[in-house]
Amino acid sequence: MTKKIAVLPGDGIGQEIVAEAIKVIKKLQADGLDVEMNEGLVGGTAYDATGTPLPEETLKLAKESDAILLGAVGGYKWESLDISVRPEKGLLGLRSELGLFANLRPAILYPQLADASTLKPEVVSGLDIMIVRELTGGIYFGQPRGVRTLDNGEREGFNTLVYRESEVKRIAEVAFDIARKRGKKVCSVDKANVLEVTEMWRDVVNELHKDNSDIELSHMYVDNAAMQLVRAPKQFDVMVTTNMFGDILSDCAAMLTGSIGMLPSASLNEKGQGMYEPIHGSAPDIAGQNVANPLATILSVAMMLRYSLDEPAMADRIEKAVEKVLDDGLRTADIYSDGMKKVSTSEMGDAVVAAL
Ligand code: NAD
Repeated sequence: MTKKIAVLPGDGIGQEIVAEAIKVIKKLQADGLDVEMNEGLVGGTAYDATGTPLPEETLKLAKESDAILLGAVGGYKWESLDISVRPEKGLLGLRSELGLFANLRPAILYPQLADASTLKPEVVSGLDIMIVRELTGGIYFGQPRGVRTLDNGEREGFNTLVYRESEVKRIAEVAFDIARKRGKKVCSVDKANVLEVTEMWRDVVNELHKDNSDIELSHMYVDNAAMQLVRAPKQFDVMVTTNMFGDILSDCAAMLTGSIGMLPSASLNEKGQGMYEPIHGSAPDIAGQNVANPLATILSVAMMLRYSLDEPAMADRIEKAVEKVLDDGLRTADIYSDGMKKVSTSEMGDAVVAAL
């Protein structure tokens, strides 16, 4: 049966990088991939057109699709809007409405790009970490939240960090399952020395480990995890953590690899439906210039084929094609180094299609 992909380019470079991913999907369609693509609006562009960053139509399209390909949302233009209609609400809304609780963020260092990292090559070469971030709970969604004015006239801002046991259990299960297919190690990251909620997180992970004793489990406080990521990142295989800690640590891990423009991500729900997107944002500083790196988005298509569309061989083809263009010395500006061939967003997309 034809599988459905909802394509949501969003804002800024989202438009440019998703256009390149579409070229790749079209090439695979020509080679027999049975999918249909339907485009929708999300983020600031959706707000401009409809007055909301997540129109009903887009939500319906997303819910009826097997997978969603998202570019990025946000930009200077919408920064002064009320928080309830900011572009990011479109993204958070999709995550919560679809129940996309598990965010998988690989940080892989391609040997061809070892020089792009700011860390010494021997510290990062061969790096292959999977960060499993809880995505629908924690402080980004907890109630109560807001800003109130106290009796003395001073304003007080507040958010709530809250996790239910079942939320911790299901994300830890995902981490153990993924570790089983990789290096068989899970490091659970918390702040159990200060926050009761993450003390409970640690207890739940330990309980679940009794049924997953083939996996080596360790625990680390988030401040130490941040330090270890830049000191000796290769000690990690799978890291599992809360929504906010995962947000920060995965960006840190991303930079170990040299470019935020290289890393894909997947967000899955319990039905295997998934949203696939690069980990970077809409990069308004370079939007519209045809210089953004489209490889993170193209590699997100590979994750989509593997995790939601059951087409692992097609996923392998994309990953090999990306390695081929890197081997050929093609680099967008963000990963450029002397002696390489600097290419634009669209030239990089065309090169991947040619390598396919
Ligand atoms: P960003 O990821 O957009 O950009 C950070 C830096 O990385 C910028 O210098 C940018 O030019 C560069 N960069 C990002 N992607 C690149 C690519 N593919 N190729 C080359 N260079 C790239 O983060 P930011 O600047 O903090 O945020 C910009 C906007 O994006 C904000 O509105 C923010 O809210 C939004 N944002 C959206 C998402 C998302 O849609 N998932 C994620 C993060 C930030």
